[in-house]
Amino acid sequence: MEYTPEQHSLKCPKCQRGMNEVDHEGVTIDRCSNCHGLWFDADEAHQLKSLPESHAVDTGDPKDGWKWDTRVEIDCPRCSKRMELTSDAKQKHIWYEVCHDHGMFMDAGEFADFKEENLLDWFRAVIKGDRSTVAP
Ligand SMILES: [Zn+2]
Ligand SMILES: [Zn+2]
Repeated sequence: MEYTPEQHSLKCPKCQRGMNEVDHEGVTIDRCSNCHGLWFDADEAHQLKSLPESHAVDTGDPKDGWKWDTRVEIDCPRCSKRMELTSDAKQKHIWYEVCHDHGMFMDAGEFADFKEENLLDWFRAVIKGDRSTVAP
């Protein structure tokens, strides 16, 4: 859906379409109507990660996310500065864009993956193997 300020809360930094607010247990994030990427203000990703069932906000198909993942140079939807591509400290296969002043952007499927780490921490501590699921 084309971005219009009246209908959308933000313009998607990845595909420039409109993003809509999605609320989960009082944490409001923005989800793109086209590529299903997610925008998290400030520390919302971490807040949301600790909430039960929050992976439900990530409705996109990870395959779509990977498709969009190839376009990495994006600008912060709040300040229009170039965002920094960062890999997660704990899950190196997850890459997301960060504006240190405003927040972060994840492609479809990345938040569900990001959140999974919480649940599987105990399991990985036992197994200590590399994951086979690495985004191309
Ligand atoms: Zn988008
Ligand atoms: Zn910014």
